[in-house]
Amino acid sequence: MAFGFAQAFRTISKLTLAGAIGASLAAGDVGAEQKTPSPGSAKGQFGAVSLPTQGPAQPIGFYAKGCMTGAVALPTDGPTWEAMRLSRNRRWGNPAMIALLERLSQDGVKYAGWPGILVGDIAQPRGGPMFNGHASHQIGLDADVWFTPMPGRRMTAEERENLPFTTMLQKDKFLTVDPKVWTQSRARLLMLAASYPEVERIFVNPAIKKKMCDTWTGDRTNLGKLRPEYGHDSHFHIRIKCPPGAAGCTPQASVAAGDGCDKSLAWWFTPAPWAPPKPPKPGAKPPKPPREMMVSDLPKACAAVLDAASVASMQAATYGGPSAASALTTAPAAAPAADADGALPDVGPVPNDKPAIQ
Ligand SMILES: [Zn+2]
Repeated sequence: MAFGFAQAFRTISKLTLAGAIGASLAAGDVGAEQKTPSPGSAKGQFGAVSLPTQGPAQPIGFYAKGCMTGAVALPTDGPTWEAMRLSRNRRWGNPAMIALLERLSQDGVKYAGWPGILVGDIAQPRGGPMFNGHASHQIGLDADVWFTPMPGRRMTAEERENLPFTTMLQKDKFLTVDPKVWTQSRARLLMLAASYPEVERIFVNPAIKKKMCDTWTGDRTNLGKLRPEYGHDSHFHIRIKCPPGAAGCTPQASVAAGDGCDKSLAWWFTPAPWAPPKPPKPGAKPPKPPREMMVSDLPKACAAVLDAASVASMQAATYGGPSAASALTTAPAAAPAADADGALPDVGPVPNDKPAIQ
């Protein structure tokens, strides 16, 4: 064989390390570029709305092309969760998603030895595409949960803005989970999340999926819900099914049967997913940049969603009611036991994203 595995891996490492230099943090967390969207674009319009619509909660369209009505906010604090990056105003979701996060946070304490969850982006008040960070998260049925445990105290709003993401990967190795950072409690939290019937997919870095394939000795029935994806090394992304009765929600096919520890995973460990796009041939026209998504590209109902009347206030639309909305001033109900896994080392950006054209 002219091109052995070891050589392939060395090549991949070089490619990905080079790609990482230009990349910012993990895909899905922070967009590398934040071009100002044009005023008529869907990002501009949906990003400018600060409150959800009144009325019943309805996801409209698809996870990566849609919007929502009647969203509720995850309270910034609960006994077993803290919402992060509050300035982004992305704590909004379908009540089914918010309820699931609350349940996961409680069950995590009970069954996974996880002291509480840090919740990242869910969706904008009326969903829709965002300025940065995500292709999906548009209909209130996607949410990011950090792999960093909740500390046993309330963080200030400033701390929630600035707490760095902690990757689960080894920074000097190709697609390898760092054994000094990864823990069984994280594995248990993932499988707990996958155990809920309404959870359809959980996106994790391919290295994390591989780690789970190699080490999970419990029931593997739901392991197939863990889907390898770029980024997702400092957080995981939970996607739930269209809730019952959500007629305007476009469902996604269920994951294939089996644990997913197969060819579809092995592909991530080949050069293919990491190769930078081919530069145009000399003399050829450079490819057009993708067209900005306009409101008219979304399902028709989304234009009306933008125009619909707002709820009175963020407090009024907070899940659990206005009292839940003011919980920030209170201490955690029960100080959760310190994470047995101990403090996490802080490591820098890692080769986990598709390299941009050099
Ligand atoms: Zn996400």
